[in-house]
Order: sequence, then C-alpha cells, then structure tokens
Amino acid sequence: MSKLDDVVKEVADEMRRMPERGEVATYIPELARVDPKAFGIAVIDAEGNVAVGGDADTPFSIQSISKVFTLTLALGKVGDRLWKRVGREPSGSPFNSIVQLENEKGIPRNPFINAGAIAVTDLILSGHLPREALGEILRFMQFLADDSTITIDQQVAASEQRTGFRNAALANYMKSFGHLDNPVDFTLGVYFHHCAIAMSCRQLAMAGRFLAQFGSNPSTGHAVVQPERARRINALMLTCGHYDGSGEFAYRVGLPGKSGVGGGILAVAPGKASIAVWSPGLDTTGNSRLGQIALEHLTHRMGWSIFGA
Ligand code: GLU
Repeated sequence: MSKLDDVVKEVADEMRRMPERGEVATYIPELARVDPKAFGIAVIDAEGNVAVGGDADTPFSIQSISKVFTLTLALGKVGDRLWKRVGREPSGSPFNSIVQLENEKGIPRNPFINAGAIAVTDLILSGHLPREALGEILRFMQFLADDSTITIDQQVAASEQRTGFRNAALANYMKSFGHLDNPVDFTLGVYFHHCAIAMSCRQLAMAGRFLAQFGSNPSTGHAVVQPERARRINALMLTCGHYDGSGEFAYRVGLPGKSGVGGGILAVAPGKASIAVWSPGLDTTGNSRLGQIALEHLTHRMGWSIFGA
C-alpha cells in the first residue's frame, strides 16, 4: 500500500464515524432523496495511481461542478470573448444571489455563481438546438472521464425545471440587458440538464485530471486545453469555486476546488493529483460539510496545499 492509499483509507474511515453531516439540499426536491450517510472519495495522482474510499463508484448529481466543464467548453468555443459576458471576481454572495446582477448591469461576477454559469451555457447553446448543446456537453464529460456510460439524471433535471424559479429570475434579468442570446427557456433547459449529470467520484477525478496535469490527461493521452488555460481555470476555482465559502475553503484546504449542491467537490492539486469527494450533507454556504473536512485532512497529510505545508 502506498502512502496515498493509506491516507485515503484513513480519511474514508474517519468520515464514516463523523456524527455531524450537515443538511441535504431540498430546494431541488429530487436531491432530498439521496442517502445523507453516503461518503465517497477518489484520488488520481500524477503517475495515474488511483486511490478510492467509501462510495467512490456511486453516481451522484454533480450540479455546479458541471460549471467547470461548461466553462472549459465555452472558452474553447468563444475564447476570451466570454469575459464580455461574465466577470472573474469572487462574489462573496450565495450561489443564487440576484443583488450583484443589478449593481453590475446584468454581468455576473464570475462563471461559477448560477447567473455566470447560465450566461456561459447560453454561449455554448448559440447556433445550436438545446439537445445538440446538451449532447455536446455530455460527450465532453464522457471524453474527459474516458467513460461513455455517464448520463444525465432526467428526474433531477425535471425536478429542478419545475422548481428553479430563482434561476429563471436570474436568466430573465440578464436577458433584459440583452446579455443572453437564446430564448431563456432554452438556456435554462440546457443549464438544468448539465447540472443533473450524474457521475461517481472515480469518474469525476478522471474528468478533472487535465486541470491537475497542465491541460492534458496522461491516462488517456488527450490534450484538452493549453497549460495556461488550465492554470487560469484553477485560479477561478480557487477564488470562486465555493461561493461565499471560497475564502474558508482556501484557508482550510488550500486547493482550487468546485463544489455542487449534490454534495460533490472536485479539487485540484496542480502537478500532484485530481481529487473528487462526495457527501450530500451541506453547510450553510451550500458546500459539502464532510467533503471539505475530508479534503482538509487529505491535503494536510499529503502536503498538497498550494500555499505550503
Ligand atoms: N443546479 C443548481 C442550481 O442552479 C446548482 C447549484 C449548486 O450546485 O451550487 O441551483
């Protein structure tokens, strides 16, 4: 057993014993049905060694983690033109906040808050039908994870489509400034569906590998983006990946990371590892409670924080 195997096993055992797990998201009714006791972790190091613990092969709703991949896809399509529609500053506000949109005339602060991710989705959709855009996003995920079995959980997507009034408000507000090119319903439909992609920790760690390995996935040999772009996406994950909990995540874990309300977190230790954790209970900022603790323990023991030991 390597040190990584030992540490991952220890962390998974510790998380199993944790009494306080946080609250499962209920505002998307279908997410409330998930087992709150689930915990999974998967780590792929620079050499391609995979260490897993707990429910590492159980698919869960990746929700906002999908925003990392839609950003990557949209940058590939429209390049730096994307930054005319979305900023690059941390928001300090909740994931679904509307106030800043008014102050900044319909330009969301960053691509990882809901408004920003809806604007990014709109750029991917332009020139396509919603099902084509969605197919492209799903195929991109399958390509990155090297796994064609990844699918969209249609029940989660339908559940959010029925109840996503706040996201509809954000989209309509941006549309009122002329900052969405497509019909609001189309853009939201694609957004809800890419949030509903279901993946396991193992699949997610594989999909995030290009961010840890300077733009390429050594396991598949696929060059995904230039090293410079991977570095910049990591910078955004560090500063904006956990909404108004981003500062706390940097302080405790010290890695670029992106959370989702399904309880998953993708974290990147540049040059060292791609890491996915999942535990559905959330803290008050909408980030996985045990997921953050598990990453804190892992990075501390492996010495992976980008800020030093
Ligand atoms: N689909 C979710 C929403 O828009 C994503 C939020 C999240 O994962 O943080 O509300």
